[in-house]
Amino acid sequence: MAENTPVVVIGMGRFGSSIALELTRLGTEVLAIDQRPKTVQALAGELTQIVTADATDIQALRQLGVPDFYRAVVAIGSDIEASILTTSLLVELGVEKIWAKAISRQHGRILERIGANHVVLPEHDMGERVAHLVSGRMLDYVQIDRDYALAKTRPPRELVGVPLGETNLRRKHGVTIVSVKPQGESYTYATEETVLQYDDLILIAGPTTKVERFTDL
Ligand code: ADP
Repeated sequence: MAENTPVVVIGMGRFGSSIALELTRLGTEVLAIDQRPKTVQALAGELTQIVTADATDIQALRQLGVPDFYRAVVAIGSDIEASILTTSLLVELGVEKIWAKAISRQHGRILERIGANHVVLPEHDMGERVAHLVSGRMLDYVQIDRDYALAKTRPPRELVGVPLGETNLRRKHGVTIVSVKPQGESYTYATEETVLQYDDLILIAGPTTKVERFTDL
């Protein structure tokens, strides 16, 4: 039920507007709010419900029907005071699922403490991700949990030409090959019988440090 309920997105900077536009593209109804009339005007052609309002004003939020929303995103970054106040008002108004953007770990901790359910640090997280891509053989990288990652890479020499079941991969390296994409083909799941080639792409999952070590082999 929660998946298709409308979402209120507050703050139409680069982050918030990307979220609002993508949600709209995915078919989710969005109420977008920003305090700057110019910003609202610029997006009015692409977002059907966008209004100028100060989200730190509880009366304004009530008038816009924000208490009826199940999900909200607070995409105010640089104005930390407004971000914290808005998040606490959403909690007070009974919005159940609140995502909030933070610009620092401390900011994130405060947002969690006042009741945000999901805190994202987009610049920090993207910075970490790019560092992983720059430093090793990883072609893509997603941190799934604090200590668990999924990476796209090419197989190291020791895994090429041997059925995966005979490589002792999990015991030796602590990672699992989830999927394999032979050149010119689609991704498919990996089995004990899969034999990798040099130009295959593989998706590996495991504890972050082990994934990092494996992609440096
Ligand atoms: P980004 O880095 O994603 O561009 P910013 O923090 O620069 O994020 O932008 C945040 C947006 O939030 C701005 O468009 C700003 O006008 C809006 N904003 C800031 N404070 C409020 C507020 N109290 N109510 C509504 N919108 C706000």
